[in-house]
Amino acid sequence: MAVARKPRYVDLANPSLSVECPNCGLRTARFVDHCRNCGYKLWPSSEMASAAFKAWRDADPSRANASRFDLDLPPPPIDDTVDYAERAHSLGIHLFPNSNFPFIICVGIFFLGLAAIPFSPTARIALAVIGGLIFLYGVVGWVLVEDVKMFPADNPKTHGEVHR
Ligand SMILES: [Zn+2]
Repeated sequence: MAVARKPRYVDLANPSLSVECPNCGLRTARFVDHCRNCGYKLWPSSEMASAAFKAWRDADPSRANASRFDLDLPPPPIDDTVDYAERAHSLGIHLFPNSNFPFIICVGIFFLGLAAIPFSPTARIALAVIGGLIFLYGVVGWVLVEDVKMFPADNPKTHGEVHR
C-alpha cells in the first residue's frame, strides 16, 4: 500500500501520542483515524494511521510499549517488590520463619491421634511415644531452632571484635 511507505508525513520528533482535533479542539488519540470526540476524520484511512503510528513508535525505543489508542505513553514500570521478612524485621514485627516443621508437628499429632484409639495398651503407649517424640522434635525445631536463628536475641555477641 502506497500510503504505508510515506511516513514522512508524520512528525517523528514530536513525542506526543495525542493531538488537538482541528474540528472540535478536544484532545484525541493522534494515530486513530477518527477523532474520538466528534468523529472528524484525522487520517485518510485507518491503515495509514496505523502505518504512521508504527513509524512514530519505531523512531524511539522508549515508545515501544505505546498503544495508538492511548493519549499518553504508558508510565515506566514501578518496582513494587517488597521483602516482607526484611520489612517486618525493621519494624520489629515477629513473623514465623518459612518452615517445614509444621508438617512434622502434624505427623506427630497424627501418631498421637492413633494412640487415642483403644488398641492394646502396649500399642497405644508405643504410638504415644512415637507421636510425642515427633511432635516435640517439630516444636523444638520450629520454635527454638529456626525462630531463634531468624530473630536472634537482643544482645548479639560481638563478632570476633572485643571492645574494651
Ligand atoms: Zn474532534
